[in-house]
Formats: sequence, C-alpha cells, structure tokens
Amino acid sequence: MEVPIIGQGTWLMERADPKACVRALQQGIASGMTHIDTAEVYGDGAVEDLVGRAVAKRRDKVFLVSKVIPSNASRRGTLAACNRTLRRLNTDYLDCYLLHWPGTHPLGDTVGAFEELVHSGKIRSWGVSNFDENQLESIVDLAGRGRVACNQVLYHLGERAIEHALLDKCRELKVALVGYSPYGSGAFPDLDSESGRVLSEIAEELGATARQVALAFLTRKAPLFVIPKSTKVSHVRENAKAGKLELSNRDQNRIADAFPRGSRRAGIPTL
Ligand code: NAP
Repeated sequence: MEVPIIGQGTWLMERADPKACVRALQQGIASGMTHIDTAEVYGDGAVEDLVGRAVAKRRDKVFLVSKVIPSNASRRGTLAACNRTLRRLNTDYLDCYLLHWPGTHPLGDTVGAFEELVHSGKIRSWGVSNFDENQLESIVDLAGRGRVACNQVLYHLGERAIEHALLDKCRELKVALVGYSPYGSGAFPDLDSESGRVLSEIAEELGATARQVALAFLTRKAPLFVIPKSTKVSHVRENAKAGKLELSNRDQNRIADAFPRGSRRAGIPTL
C-alpha cells in the first residue's frame, strides 16, 4: 500500500469545532494527506465518529488507521474493540490497526486477534505504537517478519531520541516509523530563538515555511512518516506542501546541529 509521508492526526479534535475539523480533514485528503490517524480512546470514541463523517464518500482515497487501547487488547477484547471502531468510523475495514502502547495482555493474544481481523477482511494491516527497539524486536519475533506494518512514536525537533536506536531497528525490520506530535503537540520552536532562526533561514532560502522545513526534516529518509494534527484549513494546506520539500544534506545538518538529539536514555519518550 502506498502511504503519503505526511498524514493527519486527530487527537483532541473532540475539543474543537466539529465542522471545522471535518473541513480540515477533508481539505487534507484533497491535498494528498490521505493517511488519517485516530484511536478509540480519543474523546472516548467521539473523534472516531467525527473522522467517520470526514471520510464518508471518500473512504477509498483514505489510509485509515485506528488504535486499540491496551486494556482492551486481549484476544476477544481486540475483536470487540475493532467492531466498535468500525461502527463509529462508519466503514467495514481499517487500513491499519495499532496497539496504542505496550500493555499487560499477552502480546500473542493481541497479535492473534490482529491476524484474525486480517483474515476476516476487517483490517488490511496492523502495527504498534510507543514500542522501543526491544519491544519491537519481540513482537516481530512473535509475529514474523513483514507482519508489523509500523511503529508510531513521539518525534519532533525537540525530541529526537528515537534516532539513537529505534529508527535503525525499524529500518532493519522493515517497519515504518510514524512520528506523532511532529510539532511538539503545540510546542513548536520559537522562531526568534537561535535554533528557530535556523529554521526560518532555511525556509526563506527554499521559499517554504519553518513548519514545512520541520516536517521535511522529520521525513528526510525512509522509513519516516509524520501525522501533524490541524483543525484549520490554512494550516492543513501548509502542512501538505511539506511532502514535496526536499532538504539538502547541508540543511539537514544545520537543523540537526540546531536541535541536537541529546544523549541516549533508557526506553523511548512518550507524551
Ligand atoms: P502536533 O501535530 O505536533 O501539533 C498540533 C498543534 O499544531 C495544534 O495546536 C495545531 O493547531 C498546530 N498546527 C498544526 N499545523 C499547523 C500549522 N501549519 N501552523 C500552525 N500551527 C499548526 O500534535 P499532536 O496532535 O499531539 O500529534 C499529532 C497526532 O499524532 C495526534 O493528533 C494523534 O493522531 C497522534 N498521536 C499519537 C500518540 C500515540 O500515543 N500514538 C500520541 C500523541 C499523538 P491548529 O489546530 O490550530 O492548526
């Protein structure tokens, strides 16, 4: 399946004007950001309802992803959660279904349910979220190579910890790495700061915006994808254009120097 490197997040959309969110998501789809990420836990199902309205009549254009919360991720719990998610999204299949973070149900039970859902046609692929390199290796060992489609993890200019080991592990295991909160979930660098000025300078040189430069950096090589969230049509248009922006090695190095990845810590950061 072909998936655009810049997609759309939906976390906390239940707090915004629903009509504006639907408009923004539909503009995003029209602009090529057809990868839409949601979860059963967002707004306790309310965001899946909203996404269902946004993708109605466009379902075949969209790569639709949702997530099962770990407390539901037993074998039977996952099957039941998926049915509820499909009902709210008003669709009969998901393009990808993720375990939201590692939990306490045996992973083999969750994987068994995911594979059953693939066989019944309710999901086309499955993956994980918030898994560090060891957890990812364990689930690939359990499920077999080529079964885990992606690992969705925190990744933005101020939080590059996944570059220490997880990014290479994903590449080695052929698992897509989907960066969530690519704008720091509302904490985008101040463009008047020293590091922010580096982004602005590069943006000016390329005729782009600082946010587009940030997204281009975060998707600079395979297997990186990002899913910025926006409730505004103008922002969505801006984000979509980042998919065509390519940074030279020199610009990538300038950004990497301005936003250092820091020293290696145990585990991976989460929100
Ligand atoms: P984010 O995408 O890093 O940032 C969202 C913020 O950026 C919003 O305040 C949005 O405001 C603003 N924004 C977006 N585009 C903009 C633009 N072009 N110009 C100015 N402001 C802009 O934050 P996020 O929602 O935390 O992360 C993205 C998605 O990742 C989530 O929505 C969710 O789908 C996923 N996620 C997954 C996990 C997980 O555990 N798997 C955890 C967190 C998030 P406006 O609405 O005003 O544009």
